[in-house]
Amino acid sequence: MNIDKNTTLDRIKSLTEMHGAPAFENDVKEYMKQQMEPYIDEFVENRMGGFFGVKKSKNPNAKRVMIAAHMDEIAFMVTNITVNGMLQFTNLGGVANDIWQGQRLAVKNRHGEQIIGVVSNIPKHFRTGNEGAPQIHDLTLDIGAESEEDVRDRGIEIGDTIVPNTTFTQLSENRYSAKAWDNRYGCVIAIEILELLHDKELDFDLYVGANVQEEVGLRGAKASAELINPDIAFVVDCSPANDVKSTQSFAGQLGQGTLIRIKDGTMILKPTFRDYLLQLADHHHINYQYYISPGGTDGGEIHKANIGIPTAVIGVCARYIHSTDAVFDIRDYYSARELLQQALLNLDDDQIYTLQYK
Ligand SMILES: [Zn+2]
Repeated sequence: MNIDKNTTLDRIKSLTEMHGAPAFENDVKEYMKQQMEPYIDEFVENRMGGFFGVKKSKNPNAKRVMIAAHMDEIAFMVTNITVNGMLQFTNLGGVANDIWQGQRLAVKNRHGEQIIGVVSNIPKHFRTGNEGAPQIHDLTLDIGAESEEDVRDRGIEIGDTIVPNTTFTQLSENRYSAKAWDNRYGCVIAIEILELLHDKELDFDLYVGANVQEEVGLRGAKASAELINPDIAFVVDCSPANDVKSTQSFAGQLGQGTLIRIKDGTMILKPTFRDYLLQLADHHHINYQYYISPGGTDGGEIHKANIGIPTAVIGVCARYIHSTDAVFDIRDYYSARELLQQALLNLDDDQIYTLQYK
């Protein structure tokens, strides 16, 4: 079974263009559920908003395997509406201060409508040359309103969320730009792994879904781990590439394959789990690269939950994540999807025991 490339690209376009700020992930969730429905037996949901489709095994003593993406993206929240109709905002998730001036962002109002604005900036004519980069709280979003009342008439209130207004774009044969590839990558692979495994009888119950609020400090992962109590887990997430100026070791290079994330600020990959993935990648000729990062993923919370849940991150890298446009290479997506598929197809009770206790 294979998935047509255009189907994958349609899913990437739909998901990356969705508005899914931390704690406001419902649009993403509805889309994922609708796409996953044909391939699962039921959905389970935690009370923070994370959800998982369950593919049940015929094995009466089936173990549980979890695959978790996260649905949220870096975003902003409206904190004030000025008398002249500008929106002030605060960030939801880690963003650099100096990349927002002049960008187009979209506010989602209380009626679910998207309203586009431009982030204020000072033109060259009015600059002295001594301006530093403004802080996020110095920026305003200009939606073309003439007064505070004008803003409220358009259904916008304090607390509404803002994300980049970015169209998914093909740049070259294999490379694309989009907002929120961190982590709609995970959302796409979650849908497609279920589709790919649809006809396969697995030894274990497979829980595939996504957490909320990763970008504000891995807040949604624990509730999912405790809901499912999996025997092992895979996290699917996107990490920053660092290959623009020069090739640095462990930085993540576009087009060089899926990431074997051996150490980050929140988790060290278990050696048995590392070797399991490496042996599969070698055997199936899947491109991969080691990845070490000071950052973290939901794996940081999941692997410590309950009595310990061996967890591996199946990742990809992309340039300029946490901005209006990330650039990624579709071949890396396919490498990650192939590795995840092989990791599941080769999993049985003995292998799960090895990953847990060896
Ligand atoms: Zn992120």
